Amino acid sequence: MRQRTYKSLRIVFWFGLSCIWLWAGSKSQAGQTLLLDDFETLDSVKRWEGDIQLSKGRSSHGQYSAMVRLEQGRSQISSNKLPQDWRGYDRLLFDIYCDREEVSAITIRIYDVVGGDFGIAKANDYYEAHEKVVVQKGWNHIEVNLRPLRAASGGRDLSLDRIRRLLISAARAPLPWTIYLDNIRLVAGQEGRQTASRTQPQDTRTIVDNGWFTVRQVARPEEVPESLVVTAFRKEAQQEFDRLRETVRAAQLQGIETIYQERYLVTAELGLQIRPRLAWFNNDEKKREMFSYIVESCRRGRLELEDKIQGIDRMPEADDTQVGDPLIRPFPPLKGRPVKDSFFLDERNEPMMILSLHSPSQTLQRFFATPLQHIESYTVGGGSRWTIYDSPVYAAFQRWPDTHRVGWDGWCGHLIRDINSMGGRKRENIVICLESPHTRQAIEEYIQTNIPKFHANPELLYDIEAYELMYICYCERSQQMFHEWLEKKHGTVINANEKWGTAYKSFSEVVPPPVSDSRPLPETNRALWYDWARFNQDRFTDYLLWVRSLIHKIDPKTPLAAGGSSSMLAGRTGTTGIDEERIVNEVDDVILHEGGESTLGLDLQIALAEKKKPVADPEMYLSSVDNLIPHFLHGKSVAQLFHWPAQPSSEVHSINDSSLAHSWAYPLADIGDLIRAALDLRRLNKEIAAFVDVPAEVAILYSQTSTLQLPPEMLTWQTTPYLAELEKTYNASQYLDAKITFVTERQILKGWLSRYKLLLVPAVRNTPTEVFEKIWDYAVHGGRVLVVPESFLGDEYNRATDHASRLGLIIRQTQRPKPGGVGAMVQGYDQSLSQSVAFVDDTPQKLSPTRTEVFGSIDQLETRGIRQIFEAKSDAKILFRYSDGGPAIVQMAVGQGAIYYSGSSLEERRYGRLLEDLFREARVTRPVRLRIIGGGDAWNIEARFAPLGNRKLLYLVNYNSTPKRVSVDAGPGFFSSLLDLRDHHDVQGAEITLPAHQTAIYEMF
Ligand SMILES: [Zn+2]
Repeated sequence: MRQRTYKSLRIVFWFGLSCIWLWAGSKSQAGQTLLLDDFETLDSVKRWEGDIQLSKGRSSHGQYSAMVRLEQGRSQISSNKLPQDWRGYDRLLFDIYCDREEVSAITIRIYDVVGGDFGIAKANDYYEAHEKVVVQKGWNHIEVNLRPLRAASGGRDLSLDRIRRLLISAARAPLPWTIYLDNIRLVAGQEGRQTASRTQPQDTRTIVDNGWFTVRQVARPEEVPESLVVTAFRKEAQQEFDRLRETVRAAQLQGIETIYQERYLVTAELGLQIRPRLAWFNNDEKKREMFSYIVESCRRGRLELEDKIQGIDRMPEADDTQVGDPLIRPFPPLKGRPVKDSFFLDERNEPMMILSLHSPSQTLQRFFATPLQHIESYTVGGGSRWTIYDSPVYAAFQRWPDTHRVGWDGWCGHLIRDINSMGGRKRENIVICLESPHTRQAIEEYIQTNIPKFHANPELLYDIEAYELMYICYCERSQQMFHEWLEKKHGTVINANEKWGTAYKSFSEVVPPPVSDSRPLPETNRALWYDWARFNQDRFTDYLLWVRSLIHKIDPKTPLAAGGSSSMLAGRTGTTGIDEERIVNEVDDVILHEGGESTLGLDLQIALAEKKKPVADPEMYLSSVDNLIPHFLHGKSVAQLFHWPAQPSSEVHSINDSSLAHSWAYPLADIGDLIRAALDLRRLNKEIAAFVDVPAEVAILYSQTSTLQLPPEMLTWQTTPYLAELEKTYNASQYLDAKITFVTERQILKGWLSRYKLLLVPAVRNTPTEVFEKIWDYAVHGGRVLVVPESFLGDEYNRATDHASRLGLIIRQTQRPKPGGVGAMVQGYDQSLSQSVAFVDDTPQKLSPTRTEVFGSIDQLETRGIRQIFEAKSDAKILFRYSDGGPAIVQMAVGQGAIYYSGSSLEERRYGRLLEDLFREARVTRPVRLRIIGGGDAWNIEARFAPLGNRKLLYLVNYNSTPKRVSVDAGPGFFSSLLDLRDHHDVQGAEITLPAHQTAIYEMF
């Protein structure tokens, strides 16, 4: 072992003390270093656990470093054989070299004797810099402040005299990943040259100070060397920026609209002034990309304006006695906007598209609505993780034990904070019970104090009681409420016993099934659990209504909302207490949806509503900018983008991923596109609204029962077999040129199926018998239904049903892919009701058509996932066969309609092919069809038609990463040319090239 203590400076220092008058001014110059590991000998790597070896390729000190390979399941290294007395040093330093282009983050943990070593220490009883160490290409020099080194719990400082282990982990970075680690040392005062690492001005330097970190470079940004070529680009970019700015001013003098060209000024300032000051942008490659975009975009903007100034680009003819409207009208004050159907209305009663930025920037409000558009009032819990300490709820929580949550060990659901919650002053568990009268009284007080203040906001469009919620409590009061709920639902305990398979003598004996690790125990009675989960949803919805009523007493006008939307598309919904359908219909004036990825969740959220309401996204995180307009075309009309903060985050590295200003994920061109999209949404408000108003003729069954009636282990899964099939069905039907929606079990019971021409049933394993009867009835009266496995096996209490035999089917065997085959979600099919199960390799199987009239043009289908071997009754028409000749997809005539039954889950794209023919057979209205020029299906291209008065509109979204050339087909005389409403160019004929990731909106003439 080689552990050197560098004492040279120290000796000089002590010598100096003897003649103190000489040294008085330079004490702080003295430094001391303790080397923990410099990876110069083979002995060195033996001290470490993990995949680590000596490497000569890279080093920041000495000749060698440690090459560390991190991979899935082995994503950390650590050592407990380093020097353990860290007293007297004020920082831990080390270096990491990385080859990867993208910015990643790693986590450091330090264990001490007091908390115990890795594996022994209690959660958070060690130091943790969780993803606070930013690592990018090249050398990264990391500095961790040791004075003090606070435990992650916040409860104590680590004992620096008895450090146990240093651990470096990359669990959430993309893996596998190879990094080089070198020169781990402790330093007091200024470090001597002998021990310091070699550095270059452009190297990254991350300084971690307990909960906070900052990233910079070794030199100040302007002192980092820049190549002559990049400097030349910088000058040219600056010149083009200046010229555009002057041209904008001149155009404005003339009353020429400049707002679209002004977006290039924003991207230019970002690219010239903001991003080059950030460590992850200040390199030649990134700067060259930014500066050349600025040159090109500013020039383009200037030329556009010059053409307007000269009259080369003629303005539309207008009444010359009137001054016209601006192209983008300013937003009226948002408070009190009237609502009609799906939209807030402006002062002309036109539907508004309200897009704001979560940002303190006033400049950006030129393009976006005010971020004051909504508030989260935190009235559900009476405070947030930041404000709770000033709330009466905190006082009640301290004083009354019955305000504490009982029986739940998972996430607090924003009610209100647990030890892992971000933000706020302290790390503390404040997890509340909502049934305690003390909690209720405190919340009422909180509402009375705060709502008048919050609602005085003159731009307040709507108030969110709270969102991303979840709640479950097992306290005495909860149990009592559950007993009353059961009595109301079942009448007698005999009825309930029959459903549960139990022998309770009275409801008061019933104990709610407990949870551990956020899910019910393995042997839980699933019938009873179902009632408990339903009860929990009902009581939480009732609670949200109670909060709503308190706010309404103070302000009956401001629209309210609440929810936890994402949970309905995950396994956990049964423990969340979130009944999104009741919330949408009973609590919400405005429907909440969070997310900027697939439109599935948004369409589902809208489908839950029995009455049209505006849909708002309070925290829209754009996984990519091109998803923004599609969300508005699907019905979102209020959104606040998360986010454009003043500074990069110093607390959580991954938050910078979503910062539009700072993220490496959004090139300047994307920011330009984003501002253009924001302006287009405002300018094309009526046209976009027209697409939202088109009714859907195809519905996918959203079975809330199938999300709640699950084997216990699935409650902590990201998705379930039902949800995976639901998603597949949505994707398969998305690119067939017709709007699709969802229909819920409650809606089916209300007779809503008659609105649709086709119902798709995706692995709806459990549904109440009454729902099945309604579906049957729908077919009898002419409806068409497609059923894929496993559907209709059990009711809501997971009792076997004989619906398959009603359909004329005998299921002989169910074949499931072996675990590991198709990913975790299908590994655990619920076997409780299937008779004969065989596990097979997930080799896709081909289905051969029997050349029927409807599906005659399909050559072949392919299965993916579960398969059933079944017999159908003799009058069923076999449409496709398995390779052994057995029926695979059959059609059964039911009354005037038909039920199509597929014995297998289909591969997504082939599934789309089958649906194409089913849509045609069901006569789904599709006045406009898309065709790929050169053949093939229009996969990943969404097309929808909408009328607007006597105008004909069409939008196309190309989700592909390559441009596509398509032909727009319609009946004779339907149209002869297209006008692109976004960029105002004419298309003669019907052929269009769609750029990758772009949305185009056309008017058809
Ligand atoms: Zn409780």
